[in-house]
Amino acid sequence: MELYELGIHGLQELLQRRKVTAGEVLRAFLKRIAQVEGKVHAFMAVTGREALGMAARLDRRIARGDDVGPLAGIPLAIKDVICTQGIPTTCSSKILEGFIPPYDATVMKQLYQAGMVLLGKTNMDEFAMGSSTENSGYKVTRNPWDLGRVPGGSSGGSAATVAADLCAGALGSDTGGSIRQPAALCGIVGLKPTYGRVSRYGLVAFASSLDQIGPMTKDVRDAAILLNVITGHDPCDSTSVNLPVPDYTAALGREITNLRIGIPDEYFVEGMDPEVETATRQAITVLESLGAKAERITLPHTEYAVATYYLVATAEASSNLARFDGVKYGIRAPESKDLLAMYTGTRQEGFGAEVKRRIMLGTYALSAGYYDAYYLKALKVRTLIRKDFEEAFKRCEVILTPTAPTAAFRLGEKTDDPLTMYLSDIFTISANLAGIPGISLPCGFTQAGLPIGLQLLGKPFDEETLLQLAFAYEQATDWHKRKRPL
Ligand code: GLN
Repeated sequence: MELYELGIHGLQELLQRRKVTAGEVLRAFLKRIAQVEGKVHAFMAVTGREALGMAARLDRRIARGDDVGPLAGIPLAIKDVICTQGIPTTCSSKILEGFIPPYDATVMKQLYQAGMVLLGKTNMDEFAMGSSTENSGYKVTRNPWDLGRVPGGSSGGSAATVAADLCAGALGSDTGGSIRQPAALCGIVGLKPTYGRVSRYGLVAFASSLDQIGPMTKDVRDAAILLNVITGHDPCDSTSVNLPVPDYTAALGREITNLRIGIPDEYFVEGMDPEVETATRQAITVLESLGAKAERITLPHTEYAVATYYLVATAEASSNLARFDGVKYGIRAPESKDLLAMYTGTRQEGFGAEVKRRIMLGTYALSAGYYDAYYLKALKVRTLIRKDFEEAFKRCEVILTPTAPTAAFRLGEKTDDPLTMYLSDIFTISANLAGIPGISLPCGFTQAGLPIGLQLLGKPFDEETLLQLAFAYEQATDWHKRKRPL
């Protein structure tokens, strides 16, 4: 096995037993990137020079016997929506071209502290708005399983880097499914933690009441290892909660006998790909054979989730993105006749079509006369959706659904029809509206050889049970081990 094929725990073992050096690991990935990135286009930037410096410093510290942290020498890729001090952060938007953050996001500090080697920043839908990464202002990322298809989005670059063995693991962000849906489409594991579990300080905001950062990895153990590092209270993020942080790896390997799994009727709908439905139903059978109890449940307000999300998310985005006006960050329209012309010129030039569409939708939903009819009503429905989950979790510990209604679609297939694109998130957005954690993991392949994702949703702050169940399923199957040579 090549070094670049290993995930976090595989490399950890070799590094900790000093079978390899951080420098050797890094060079294996840089070589792989040089060979494969030209096909996949997953990175916004590869920070090879900085990474070589980091790895060399770590190797010196390891040789001295210093305590270097659990991720020492592990190369990770970070979605380009997370601020990295001294390294450009674009959100894959032209408007942020040339923006170099003066500080690190809290998750970056935590990862560096743990010894991670930053390999690069990954491509994404502009400002995380999209489901295919085709809204990037810079490049189109390909799905490593079929280069004619999308990797999902908006964390499509992160998902593709992991699936193509271009890094050991990655971080993404999830506002309506942007970690879980690309994880499903690329055949990897993606975890969206509970709202408040991971600090968003330094995450460029899309919709602040929904955004979460989370791990995207080759297997469930790696997700637990990364979550251990990035979880915890942060005084810099007022929504981050001050709760004890468990060791998430301790949940792995626990028996799942008598765990109750809820199967919501509303998630097995018309329009869903029959191959996705079959794979999901087979996953239920596997979990039952391991001793879990499956039970039908209902989440009656599910049908309103997409509409509710696209009101709340666009409203918040219209406000959050007001700061990009040519004054402080990124580009500025040249030779404007006055301040207003500079604002409008910069935004006209800098934002792509989808971002403009969202800003207009959100501004409309918040405007006088429409606020009550749209935004306020959406907030009320959001409460109903959250209550559906509260009710359901009286009867089960985990809810099981498909992650996405179809496997990866073709490049360009949905770009002309925003509404069908929005529907790719039909199974993931409720978790963000309710604030609960969710994980996607591989559960099969279509006839055409494309990965299918299984979604597990948990009670607030109960990532442990999600990881426990996901790990049990992963141990009983070998979907996560499949690879397509690139
Ligand atoms: N695809 C959804 C959207 O376009 C979700 C994006 C996300 O989670 N960042 O808004």
